[in-house]
Amino acid sequence: KGRIEVGGPDSEAQLARTAQAKRHMRLSAELRQAVERDELILYGQPVLDLRSGQVVAVESLLRWMHPELSVLAPGDFLDVAEATDLIFPIGSRVLGEACRMAATWVDLLGPAAPSIHVNISGRQLEGGNLHREVLRALAGTGLDPSQLVLELTETHMPLIANSLKNDLQGLRDRGVKVAIDDLGTGYSSLTRITELPVDILKIDMSFVARMEEDPASAAVVRGILSIGDALGLDVIAEGVETPSQAVRLGEYGCTGVQGYLYSRPLPEEELLAHLAKAGR
Ligand code: C2E
Ligand code: MG
Ligand code: MG
Ligand code: MG
Repeated sequence: KGRIEVGGPDSEAQLARTAQAKRHMRLSAELRQAVERDELILYGQPVLDLRSGQVVAVESLLRWMHPELSVLAPGDFLDVAEATDLIFPIGSRVLGEACRMAATWVDLLGPAAPSIHVNISGRQLEGGNLHREVLRALAGTGLDPSQLVLELTETHMPLIANSLKNDLQGLRDRGVKVAIDDLGTGYSSLTRITELPVDILKIDMSFVARMEEDPASAAVVRGILSIGDALGLDVIAEGVETPSQAVRLGEYGCTGVQGYLYSRPLPEEELLAHLAKAGR
């Protein structure tokens, strides 16, 4: 404590820790204000059916319109939101906003309107309010539950399998769908998916990025697709960036695709223009 060795390894580690603590303090104060000032908004990224080219869904992705730093992505602040409990007001606002956005697409596009995917944090899952908040967001916007998809990550699988199973099943009984995000990254046994109340599997983009050079990555992609096939689940490949990846995924029988090749995450107005154009 208080011992400073200039230039030594201790001081470097200490500096890094101090920098981290400062970042955390500054960000948590700013984030609290951001929630009050509505600086957190949702972008949306289309998910397409590879065969028809139609936009079948949109994933909502959180952005912070920081007054000084321009647009921040979740990687810049989500850890602080989770550590400070700000994730709870943020998460319920995300649910409400996502449902509102999706309800406007139904008004404008009718039955062709894409469904909305919402990322749910582990803290929200553990918080015990998810069931109620989802129902509130649906009721508040009039969105049909079958238009809503909750994205949980593979690391939450034990939670989903045990304490949350009834909550999720209750929502699924009403038509809400559940997707497992970032599949392949969590070292869980893929066969455990058979026990979970899920509808959609999302292949993590790291496997898509490597599948053309790396046979092991290709095997993971094909493995997830064959599990999806056997269980009657939809599969979406994330992070599709090149036409040759799309061709390869098509050969593997993958139908759901999402990535920069088709569209970056877009702010609501641009997204709407994109959807209106794609619908014609
Ligand atoms: P995710 O759910 O796996 O979302 C996909 C991420 O990949 C997004 O990053 C998206 O912008 C990015 N992406 C999409 N296509 C491509 C591509 O072709 N290439 C590359 N390199 N990247 C692509 P983003 O928006 O920075 O979000 C990062 C993560 O933050 C998300 O990963 C999700 O776990 C989390 N997140 C985003 N929005 C929310 C939210 O509203 N609530 C919570 N709890 N987490 C969120
Ligand atoms: Mg996601
Ligand atoms: Mg993902
Ligand atoms: Mg991912």
